[in-house]
Amino acid sequence: MKITLNPDAEVVRTVKEGLHRTGGYCPCVLERSEDTRCMCKEFREQIKDPQFEGFCHCMLYYKSNDDKSDEGGNEHV
Ligand code: SF4
Repeated sequence: MKITLNPDAEVVRTVKEGLHRTGGYCPCVLERSEDTRCMCKEFREQIKDPQFEGFCHCMLYYKSNDDKSDEGGNEHV
């Protein structure tokens, strides 16, 4: 399992601007609480869920379940 930023730099820039504006709270929801502080509770739970693979709600982060790429294979050459 690994967490990476969205490869789309424009999305990353937009979401990070949103996070800056809100002082670190999820820019995709109106609620401001510890649960919506980035990384929000929703994504933390998705990280814990072995079945989940995909983007967080704002699409800033991507969770991959591909363990092989953590093991120094040839994929990054
Ligand atoms: S949805 Fe993504 S960017 Fe938004 S608070 Fe959660 S982890 Fe952060």
